[in-house]
Amino acid sequence: MPLSPDPSPLTTHQRYIRQSLMCMSGLLFGLLLIAGSALVLVALQFNSSSREQTTFYVNKAMESRTGALVAVIGDYAFWGDAYERMSGVVDLDWAYTRNNLGRHMYDSFGHEGVFVVNGNNVTTYAVINGEVTEDLSLSSWLGLDLDSLNIDSLLAEARTLADEEDVAFAITGNQGLPVLISAAAFTSGGDPYVKELPGPAAVLVLVDQLGPVKLAALGESYGISQLRVADSTDDAHRAPALAVETMAGTPIILRWEPPQPGNTMLLWLLPILLLCLLVFIYITRFNFRATLAAARKADASHNQVRRYQTELVFQATHDSLTGLPNRSILEERLKQACVTAQQSGTQVAVMLIDLDGFKPINDNFSHHLGDQVLVEVAKRMLAIVRPGDTVARMGGDEFIVILPGVLDEQAVSAIAERFLEDIAAPYHIDSIDLRVTASVGVVVSNGLIEQPLELIQHADSAMYQAKQEGRNNAFWYTAGLSQQMHEMAGLRNDLQRAIETQAFKLHYQPQVNSTTGEIVGAEALLRWTHPVRGIVSPAAFIPLAETTGQIIPITLWVLDTACCHLRQLADEGTFLPCIAVNISSTHLLRASFVSTVKAALNKHGLHAAQLELEITETVLLNHADRALHTLQQLKKMGVRLAIDDFGVGFSSMNYLKVLPVNKIKIDRSFINGTDHNEQDAAICQGIISMAHHLRLRVVAEGVEREGQRVFLQENHCDDMQGYLFAKPMSFSKLRQFIRKVNGEAAHSPRAAH
Ligand code: C2E
Ligand code: CA
Ligand code: CA
Repeated sequence: MPLSPDPSPLTTHQRYIRQSLMCMSGLLFGLLLIAGSALVLVALQFNSSSREQTTFYVNKAMESRTGALVAVIGDYAFWGDAYERMSGVVDLDWAYTRNNLGRHMYDSFGHEGVFVVNGNNVTTYAVINGEVTEDLSLSSWLGLDLDSLNIDSLLAEARTLADEEDVAFAITGNQGLPVLISAAAFTSGGDPYVKELPGPAAVLVLVDQLGPVKLAALGESYGISQLRVADSTDDAHRAPALAVETMAGTPIILRWEPPQPGNTMLLWLLPILLLCLLVFIYITRFNFRATLAAARKADASHNQVRRYQTELVFQATHDSLTGLPNRSILEERLKQACVTAQQSGTQVAVMLIDLDGFKPINDNFSHHLGDQVLVEVAKRMLAIVRPGDTVARMGGDEFIVILPGVLDEQAVSAIAERFLEDIAAPYHIDSIDLRVTASVGVVVSNGLIEQPLELIQHADSAMYQAKQEGRNNAFWYTAGLSQQMHEMAGLRNDLQRAIETQAFKLHYQPQVNSTTGEIVGAEALLRWTHPVRGIVSPAAFIPLAETTGQIIPITLWVLDTACCHLRQLADEGTFLPCIAVNISSTHLLRASFVSTVKAALNKHGLHAAQLELEITETVLLNHADRALHTLQQLKKMGVRLAIDDFGVGFSSMNYLKVLPVNKIKIDRSFINGTDHNEQDAAICQGIISMAHHLRLRVVAEGVEREGQRVFLQENHCDDMQGYLFAKPMSFSKLRQFIRKVNGEAAHSPRAAH
């Protein structure tokens, strides 16, 4: 399972928008609240100034009422006619009937009481509510409720003020209602024809009683609504008040209903404001939701984009199969590890781990199974390393491990051993039991390296060496190894040049019949004369050519040359039954191999039976099925097949049953001991006997001594090859050698039989 990238933290669009919307809403709401409060304050202010204004007008009204009373009484009292007719005996006809001081005083001015008091303070004339009334004195009419009013002093004041044509004035209460009283002494009014009368002057008293109707009307005339005397039901807070001072000292409180412009304003504006608020709340709510939804969407897509980005970065830097880092971030990690090593005085270890025999798993089972093995290997490796170490997959079955901060090499060695051990442990996948091993290349550095990537090259060289040394082991890089690798690279280039310039030659080593001594064939052995190094052994360059693929053009040349030489021999009449060519497994497995062989035979007009191909058991290691199929096709064609180096491989006996071969060549290492080592002798006897049971011919390789020849002959080994008979030789020497041997054989008595 690939490791999934860490989910990145969510973006804050939503939170941000929510916060700013809340702030905005709060702000607007606050503003609305302030506006509302200001409105109420203004309204209250309006109301208050309205109260002040109406108080002013009520005052004005009262003053004007008083003023009117004073003006009226002045007009009638300081008038010569009235002085003459009202001072002594009252001229009732003049006063009431002719209405000089009669009914019109009530009708026109609203004076409830009109009194005239003579010099002795006796009431001589009384008109109450417009009706003349006899026997009613001013003091008795007024005195009913007006105990506190000292009429005499008012009259005295009026007589005193008369000199300056002024009048006396007082306010008193009657049944709670204000009563305005004005008194003025009669004078001639400056009329020179009116005779002055002796003694205290008669006084005119006018009474203006402000009852509810009159008060209301007085208020209305000044635009004041419901002017009245306050009673217990009045709300002192609502209606303004005016205290009218009375002679008794207890003021009379007037109240009225002032207009409330503030209330009116509020009545109009508050609903509008409220409506605005509601609309605002609705719109804000709507906007809030819409914006939040948009933000949520934006967040979602933003997060998705971020997730994709993170995923992309992860995919670009990690192996999709194992989830391990891939080579793209390796360089960075390696550089970092080198810096850490330099700074901390430690070392950095780099391991290159390559699985052995992984390819057959892929080919023989399935890629799916191979993938699972790789995943399991990755898991096992990750379980071994510490946090901070890096395990990366380079591709295929190759892994890199970086161990920074290494203190001693033993620890590295221990880790490498654990890798080998844990990777080699059995795998049980899809009910299949498998085993895989690994070759590990190790390099340790102090970090002082210009190109940290070189460490990987070094680990690779070491790993290559580990493979060469038989796999399933760890090899440590040394400076010498680098030199060796360098040489290999040089060799490879030289080899390429040799292929291009055909700088090879073929030598041949004859094979002889153990019994008759006849030449039964010759093995073609490649020779390369290097311009500097001289003759280079095929053992040195064939393995390299196999890994580089250069073995293909080389073998094509060998096949062609060997067939060409055999054709020449046949054409010359030099009899050689068969020529043997060594074939590398890598080439045999090529799909075109069979047709390549056919083409070579056809080109030189040879029978298939004249060609023998030497293969090793390693062909069966990888792609056994394909190898078997190719071998069967070759066998069918008639080409002979021999197993080379028999005995040193891995499979031996078991495969002999299935391999369609004609002969086996017992490896030189067994032949060597046949004349002195019992075990080797026994092994050879066993191989010969078994091969004969399977109807296979047996060739002994590397026969050098007579003792070996005798042993092999006695044990019925069919053919022999080795320095005892002939060393590998040039084609022209081979020609001579065959002619010589065949000639001798033709004359020998044994051959005659
Ligand atoms: P091989 O196929 O086992 O060839 C036999 C090797 O043993 C040859 O070495 C030969 O010179 C050597 N030999 C023969 N008789 C004796 C003996 O009595 N004593 C000793 N000590 N050695 C003996 P050579 O020619 O150096 O070849 C080495 C290997 O190179 C061959 O081993 C073969 O595996 C490979 N090789 C040679 N030529 C070719 C070629 O054309 N194609 C391929 N694929 N491999 C080749
Ligand atoms: Ca051989
Ligand atoms: Ca051999």
